[in-house]
Amino acid sequence: MTATIIDGKAAAARLRAKVAEEVKQHHYVKPGLAVVLVGADPASEVYVRNKEKAVLEVGMASFPHHLPASTTENELLRLIDTLNADARVHGILVQLPLPAHINAEKVLEHISPRKDVDGFHPVNAGKLAVGQNALVPCTPLGCMILLRETVPDLPGLNAVVVGRSNIVGKPIAQLLLQADCTVTITHSKTKNLAEVCRNADILIAAIGKPEFIKGDWIKKGATVIDVGINRITVDGKTKLVGDVAFQEAVQVAGAITPVPGGVGPMTIACLLANTLKAALTT
Ligand code: NDP
Repeated sequence: MTATIIDGKAAAARLRAKVAEEVKQHHYVKPGLAVVLVGADPASEVYVRNKEKAVLEVGMASFPHHLPASTTENELLRLIDTLNADARVHGILVQLPLPAHINAEKVLEHISPRKDVDGFHPVNAGKLAVGQNALVPCTPLGCMILLRETVPDLPGLNAVVVGRSNIVGKPIAQLLLQADCTVTITHSKTKNLAEVCRNADILIAAIGKPEFIKGDWIKKGATVIDVGINRITVDGKTKLVGDVAFQEAVQVAGAITPVPGGVGPMTIACLLANTLKAALTT
């Protein structure tokens, strides 16, 4: 058996088109996203540029704030105060990582929960945990969209999440629970991880270790969502691989997301969806 390859690029394009259409329909409010970048980390610069471009493409307003690495924590907090108070700004995203002299947790908690389009604020994490309407982190949201499109009948299925970070593993587990899956969260201290994974109808890999999950850890016909993005060098060339050994997994799984082209493209599309949601609920 060869698994169906879940096309994240196509799903992301559909979501972007839907957001653009809704922006047009709600012409009385122009959703605005402020992206704050501190310093000149090359990877962060690329991510930020892509986000700002995507915002303009769907007809939203972009408020870029590119600050020098020497920016103090206090200066950043004051900027967030200004953005929290600016009625044209519905979403605020502070690109991580921040320089070491700035406390990222303090900065993220300073963003108004209503403008927290990354869904990292403890108020949004708490709302998600108790099943209230929340701004949900973009990558987990994207995973759930792909999953729902692939597996229409989720209730009762065994879902195993490998990884328990606040930005990926935990929120995905909450969303799976809301979808009535039977959820197991695993991490670096989990015993017999391979055995636990073999029980999964749905396997979510969010570890950050290249090709860590092997083909024989996967139940025949399972749906595999690979969140991992790892840069490795093969024969002197750099390439991106996921947390799942794709070539092995594709022989066993029923459906699987590729890396790149799976979960990755959904993240920016969900950022746009969250910005629209924030604009329509303020
Ligand atoms: P973190 O490093 O924050 O968390 C990794 C998790 O994996 C931890 O909970 C850790 O367990 C667990 N883990 C590490 N080693 C093992 C092991 N041997 N067995 C089982 N579990 C293990 O990473 P993130 O959640 O931020 O990211 C995970 C991956 O997803 C990365 O590759 C990242 O690049 C990618 N990513 C992709 C995004 C996208 O847009 N597609 C967005 C965000 C992330 P413990 O808690 O015990 O340490």
